[in-house]
Amino acid sequence: MLALWLLVFITGLAVGSFLNVCIYRLPLGQSLVTPPSHCPKCNHRLGAGELVPVLSYLMLRGKCRCCGARISPRYPVVELATGLAFVLLVMVFGWQIKTLGYLILFCGLLTASLIDWDHQIIPDQISLLLVGAGLILQALQSTGTLINGIIGGLLGGGLLLVLAVLSKGGMGGGDIKLVTGIGVFLGWQLLLVSLFLSFIIGSLLSGIWILIKRQGLKTAVPFGPFLSLGAIITLFYGEQILNWYLNCF
Ligand SMILES: [Zn+2]
Repeated sequence: MLALWLLVFITGLAVGSFLNVCIYRLPLGQSLVTPPSHCPKCNHRLGAGELVPVLSYLMLRGKCRCCGARISPRYPVVELATGLAFVLLVMVFGWQIKTLGYLILFCGLLTASLIDWDHQIIPDQISLLLVGAGLILQALQSTGTLINGIIGGLLGGGLLLVLAVLSKGGMGGGDIKLVTGIGVFLGWQLLLVSLFLSFIIGSLLSGIWILIKRQGLKTAVPFGPFLSLGAIITLFYGEQILNWYLNCF
């Protein structure tokens, strides 16, 4: 049994390593396949040993073997987070199609969040992939889940569109498409829980940020990470939160 979980964890690490490539290259419009991974400073092409997730970072002590340029600790953190998420999601939801959907959703959200954080954009490829994969996986489960997914996507996209108009550009087109994808995976009830959590987390953290920086929010805060965090918490605790809320009435 341990060997199985180790395999799930290693698969997650490897997928996380690919997500790092997407996070770096997608916003720059570069191919995800060519050229092979290299140091962005000195172009030194990474050997097999330097491509091993997490371990290579530790062995190289966070520096390029060739030129000594610092490698961001975010690379191993993304790999570890993906590995752990894979184990947790499979443990909680078991071996079923729904779990595969949640794994894809997690990967899409992590990638979108970090790109949004770095560049204040959410590439359309990620949102389109989420909407497409979400619809296919919902259809594979049942007609009911497919309909719930479609309603979730339309509701999410619609609500964010209204917010984008009201906030006069504070919320962007990227956010609208990302939430459409989240809605397709979660269905409409859990989508509402997810948005609620995102706005609570978003306002709390931006409030703290303003206090620390002692300046107004003149610069746009990327909202993708909050939308993603809300959705990921909902994956694990959405049902409980929803039941608790419904029992209050
Ligand atoms: Zn280098």
